Amino acid sequence: MEVYSKSENAPVTGAAPLPSAAWCATLKEMSVCAICDGVGLVRVVNAQGQWVSRPCECQLMEREERRLAATRIPERYRDCSLDAYEIYHEADRSLSEALLTTRRFVEEYPAGTKGKGLLFTGSIGVGKTHLAVGVLQRLVRERGVRGLFCDYRELLKNIQNSYNPQVNTTELELLKPVFSAEVLVLDDLGAQKPNEWVWDTVALILNTRYNDKQTTIITTNYADLPAGAGFKTDKEGRKPAKSEDTLGDRIGDRMRSRLAEMCIHVEMTGKDFRQTGVKRARFG
Ligand code: ADP
Repeated sequence: MEVYSKSENAPVTGAAPLPSAAWCATLKEMSVCAICDGVGLVRVVNAQGQWVSRPCECQLMEREERRLAATRIPERYRDCSLDAYEIYHEADRSLSEALLTTRRFVEEYPAGTKGKGLLFTGSIGVGKTHLAVGVLQRLVRERGVRGLFCDYRELLKNIQNSYNPQVNTTELELLKPVFSAEVLVLDDLGAQKPNEWVWDTVALILNTRYNDKQTTIITTNYADLPAGAGFKTDKEGRKPAKSEDTLGDRIGDRMRSRLAEMCIHVEMTGKDFRQTGVKRARFG
């Protein structure tokens, strides 16, 4: 442990300085649990009336924090929980049904979900990532799972970086966390179209996880429709006026039907939450 002398932190002139981050970290390390006095164990009487030792609450909390940190949930999604999810538009049943499905999923995990995951579809800002992160946090906290959050674009970059040109192969060892996480959140699937060999690796990851009965939770802004089905009709409902990419267009129909086997589809319709003014009303 590094030692900081107070004189090093003392101001030369003027008001007393705020304690440095290093000094705060040192103080935090020094603070001891009021329950176990820093021992990490407490003595309790078990069902047979014998005194036994068990890990103190502080140790369990520390483990939980470590597991949460290991999920690599981005800072801006840290506060996303199922409890913080608001049904901001009562008339839109898809939002309340999405919350209901995710809550049921958490309750039934893992025996009732049998390795299946969730596929959240809907336009930008409807709260897909919010719910996916909410599920992940709950499973990590309450079921002790090893979870991982992975942005699809980041994954593509990591696959690209894992390519070893000397041996003309991908260093799959570098992608091990994505293969082996008990619960993986893959955010924004289809956001980018990779080249063929990168896509083959994505497909390998998803197929391996499916075969190993590992849970994958996916979000995508693309409608769960086959390739070429995303036509909008003109005002009179006649001929196609504009084509919109579908999930089938972005990931191929084969992978789309694989996802149908792997995941429970949660379709969310509605507006971008950030445009609804709900937050402004609450915090403004
Ligand atoms: P999407 O993944 O569908 O594009 P996000 O989950 O990223 O949308 O949501 C955008 C922002 O709005 C996030 O900060 C999220 O926490 C918030 N948000 C979205 N829907 C809700 C909701 N129903 N209740 C509370 N916050 C929400």
